[in-house]
Amino acid sequence: MELKKSGINTLCTHYGELEDPIYKGAVSPLYMSTSYAFEDVAVKRYPRYFNTPNQVALAKKIAALEHCEASLIFGSGMAAVSTAMLAFLSAGDHVVLQKTLYGGTYNFVVEELARFGISYTFTKGLAPNDFEAALQDNTKVIYIETPSNPLLTITDLKAVGVIAKKAGIVSMIDNTFASPVNQNPADFGIDVIIHSATKYMGGHSDICAGAVAASQAHIDQVFRLAKNFGGSLSDYTVWLLERSIKTMGIRVKAQNENAMEMATYLEAHPEVSKVYYPGLKSHPDHELAAAQMSGFGGMLSFELREGLNASAFQKALQLIKPSMSLAGIESTLLSPTLTSHALLSPEERKHQGIADGLIRFSVGIEEVDALQLDIDQAIKSLL
Ligand SMILES: *Cc1c(COP(=O)(O)O)cnc(C)c1O
Repeated sequence: MELKKSGINTLCTHYGELEDPIYKGAVSPLYMSTSYAFEDVAVKRYPRYFNTPNQVALAKKIAALEHCEASLIFGSGMAAVSTAMLAFLSAGDHVVLQKTLYGGTYNFVVEELARFGISYTFTKGLAPNDFEAALQDNTKVIYIETPSNPLLTITDLKAVGVIAKKAGIVSMIDNTFASPVNQNPADFGIDVIIHSATKYMGGHSDICAGAVAASQAHIDQVFRLAKNFGGSLSDYTVWLLERSIKTMGIRVKAQNENAMEMATYLEAHPEVSKVYYPGLKSHPDHELAAAQMSGFGGMLSFELREGLNASAFQKALQLIKPSMSLAGIESTLLSPTLTSHALLSPEERKHQGIADGLIRFSVGIEEVDALQLDIDQAIKSLL
């Protein structure tokens, strides 16, 4: 049976799994060994070489989920982001980055790249010609994130893939927000796909991990650096992550449905002035999202109407947990102004479209009735 052509839930549950030849257990055995007998001179198994049995098995699953030839699993999303970028950039090179990026990635770029002699340009906007305009003779990488954090903007995958191919450079995406359940950028010509597996792949707010998927040739290039940087993930956590990914298809689909219902509810709410969700017809890039995503995801943002205090709103919640991070089965939310984007000046936040009343909402798998009741009672307490 050609498992690779199966549906998402069969891939999530079974693809790449290790057999237990002795006891015929239902799940992959866990090999914690850091020392393996030489099979031959060519194969030296060692965790930091990313080739232990559990690492190899899970890497196959993640590659299949992203429609790629190969993948590597890292100790965090940022280990994946930093290793992937530096694998394709050397002193004298230039990288074009999408204007709005995950905070950790933004910090990595502005705090580290210059020291390596790598220059960068953030695009002015998100239209294809904004990426083209930022290209230089020494540009080696285009880096995007769609849907983006926190305003859920959409970047055209196909257009960016074409621009990169034409320029003969590598296109890279952080596909964390969509997850492989909702978006497979390789199908649209993007070369390197990065995940913070801390988010939807882990899905239970208890694993910190990352992954990079790409062609074998690109993964070989990432591996060269990865083994020297040493950002591999412990086999125990690799095994836990495999277990988590088994339910990713059904989790994320439930979160897609809940987010759509919550976005519709919030858009109609008199005390909410704006909702950002690519699944809504009112989203400026709804059609582009529909063309390149198979589901609209579990992340949305909304603005309380002026005069309502975002911080008091969060304190009044009883079920939804105000907290950092996202993508767990439990609903969480945060105010970018008070947390992820607190270090930006008020002008810079305004420039990025982040209002003080903006709330970023990671929708979980609870019944939507319960989520709506909680938001309603929290808003009422402010009136
Ligand atoms: C969380 C996150 C990261 C960083 O991942 P860590 O596992 O925290 O290192 C990168 N990109 C996006 C979009 C994220 O949400």
